[in-house]
Amino acid sequence: MKLLILDRDGTLNASRDDFVTTPADWEPLPGALEAVARLNQAGWRLVIVSNQSGLGRGLLDMANLNAIHNKMNKALAAAGGRVEAIFFCPHVPDDHCTCRKPASGLFLQIAERFGVSLQGVPAAGDSVRDAQAAAAVGCEPHLLMTGNSLTCRDGNLPSDLPPGSYVHTDLPAFADFILARERVKQEANSL
Ligand SMILES: [Mg+2]
Ligand SMILES: [Zn+2]
Repeated sequence: MKLLILDRDGTLNASRDDFVTTPADWEPLPGALEAVARLNQAGWRLVIVSNQSGLGRGLLDMANLNAIHNKMNKALAAAGGRVEAIFFCPHVPDDHCTCRKPASGLFLQIAERFGVSLQGVPAAGDSVRDAQAAAAVGCEPHLLMTGNSLTCRDGNLPSDLPPGSYVHTDLPAFADFILARERVKQEANSL
């Protein structure tokens, strides 16, 4: 199974300081939906892992979250893309749960649900904590310089980024990287 793991806010859609609490708040980043579609067309299956502490803070409820994801899924479908599943953490930091990134619980849920190893599975997000959660379970971390990491475009990478992390401008650039690496592998195999 060709599996990719993606963060949501700041990765696929614009992040907001006041949280994405309604469908109207959910706005895709430039080229993000098309990037998902290109990956799908190459046979990649995408799963989302998302901290949604707005639930624990009482800023939105499950009906709101479902409505947001309906909008997201429709927007993806219109672009020719889809995600397989959305795993989210509803807790606030003080809950000290095992699923809020940088903890890796959401990733482990994916491994269990799909019956796959996470070893080397590319995982992309806009926060260091995404990369940390990914690296802790053997995924290949990719930091996107969007959302929380927009300032990294000045050339200052966070010092707590896990070793071996890849860094890309945005989700379309991540898709370009994944697809180009696959082409190189296929060409090598056909020699
Ligand atoms: Mg994010
Ligand atoms: Zn949690």
